[in-house]
Amino acid sequence: MLIHGVGVGRNAVVGPVARAHPVPVVLANVPAPLDPESAVSALTEVIGEVSASLRARADAASGTLKEVLSATAMMAADPALAKGAAAKVRSGVAPARAVWDTAESFIDMFKAAGGYMADRATDLASVRDRIVARLLGLPEPGVPALDRASVIVAEDLSPADTAVLDLDLVLGLVIERGGPTSHTAIIAGQLGLPCIVRATAASDLHDRDVVAVDAARGTVTVGPDEETITAVSMRRQALESLNSDSGPGGTSDGHGVQLLANIGTAEDADRLSSSAAEGVGLFRTEVLFLDSTTAPTLEEQAGTYARALDALGDRKVVFRTLDAGADKPLAFVNQLDEENPALGIRAYRLVRTVPELLEVQLAAIAAATERTGGSPWVMAPMIATVEEARDFAAAARAAGIGRVGVMVEIPAVALRARDVLAEVDFVSIGTNDLAQYTMAADRLRGELADLLNIWQPAVLDLVASTADAGAELDKPVGVCGESAGDPVMALALVGMGVTSLSMSPASLPGVRYALRRHTQERCREIALAALSARTASEARAAALALVDREVRDTLALD
Ligand code: PEP
Ligand code: MG
Repeated sequence: MLIHGVGVGRNAVVGPVARAHPVPVVLANVPAPLDPESAVSALTEVIGEVSASLRARADAASGTLKEVLSATAMMAADPALAKGAAAKVRSGVAPARAVWDTAESFIDMFKAAGGYMADRATDLASVRDRIVARLLGLPEPGVPALDRASVIVAEDLSPADTAVLDLDLVLGLVIERGGPTSHTAIIAGQLGLPCIVRATAASDLHDRDVVAVDAARGTVTVGPDEETITAVSMRRQALESLNSDSGPGGTSDGHGVQLLANIGTAEDADRLSSSAAEGVGLFRTEVLFLDSTTAPTLEEQAGTYARALDALGDRKVVFRTLDAGADKPLAFVNQLDEENPALGIRAYRLVRTVPELLEVQLAAIAAATERTGGSPWVMAPMIATVEEARDFAAAARAAGIGRVGVMVEIPAVALRARDVLAEVDFVSIGTNDLAQYTMAADRLRGELADLLNIWQPAVLDLVASTADAGAELDKPVGVCGESAGDPVMALALVGMGVTSLSMSPASLPGVRYALRRHTQERCREIALAALSARTASEARAAALALVDREVRDTLALD
């Protein structure tokens, strides 16, 4: 059986399925227990089991996963939840409902207390979900504890779930929903995991089914034959062999193109220390705070940023200020009931409602710079006007930051790139949002993937005209959206005049190799062919037709 979806990355893998399960739903009208005392003993036993299993998982884990599991295990061992729920059961409430309601009241109290306590609300919700699932006879929600290397299959995964995956045992991801630029897909790419999103038919997969996941082709083969298994292992070897090239990025005739990595945590920066990335072109700082319920302090931020700067030594690092909102809401700042969050008060626009957020972040980046002796670049997301670019540049320079830029994610800014570039030192094109706003298509809606296709002519035009403005003003124009990691698109972007490409670290070897096999002139021809097409599929086909045969075969581009 073959399941189709949208692939993220070019790698492939074969392995057994481990299903992640959704959070259980407790219906309001669950019947009261017939024998409350035996229901209380069953409940106590389940809470003990959940606590012990979390403790065991925490002991066996490392890094962020260990931290998250340890905090959750501590919460499960707290007698207050068990006592509160038992009292409710004795008064005639069904155990699952009793746990749910007791946990909710603690969660509300934690949130109201703020600070450290508010951060514990997420841990308690996770404990609650696990206990309730067991009581209802449902599988434990979230990614299961893995006892072997596995392909995780899920209806959806939150960015927070994805961030704590056990990288030693996760081979790849298959997600039923989402789109290629949803944040789960992006984080998977950052972790170097082959990932298929929008694989609707994956709902039929069961634990231990063996699957071949091919991100380049966007397919999941269930029960792969020998031929498929051999093809997967050949692809892995071909990609592996590209890893040995660690030279700087550039075309075959020596036109240099900086090849940078997108990261979201200080741990990602540590992982890059041995990578051939020439630096970080996009540090998505909001990823650090997806679980926080209170604004991170200056000291907390400065520590994390300094750690990332230390890990990267004298390589370039571009910090993006908090891009909170829409697909990446941060509990401490976004209004969760906004009607159109993607068009609302998000990202740089939060300066209108909580100006101290930006002030503290810029001060934290400046403090980290001072501590480490680095010289990071800083840019703001979702800039729409010349005034916003000017105000951001003034604030960043006042904080002592040397290189200040903005992202080009809104068509208005791409159309006026000359005027915006005049205010800043560089721009970086976020093609994920640029496509979303140009095509008026929600990047999280897998069903709209055709509209969000990175080859859409209107989006290509906006990228090309932004690159022209950069060339005219002699200022760097990078691309840091997912399209930079697509080898064919990377050639076209370089042909348009883009000066740096920032992508998931796993995409770097393929892009470096593709660039090395083409001259700058050939890249220009590829760009022209794409820009002359009238549809997205014609644009890709026209570009691909000019790509070297060996590159097409090695990277499975056809
Ligand atoms: C983009 O929009 O292309 C981008 C790089 O930012 P993010 O994906 O984090 O919104
Ligand atoms: Mg964006």
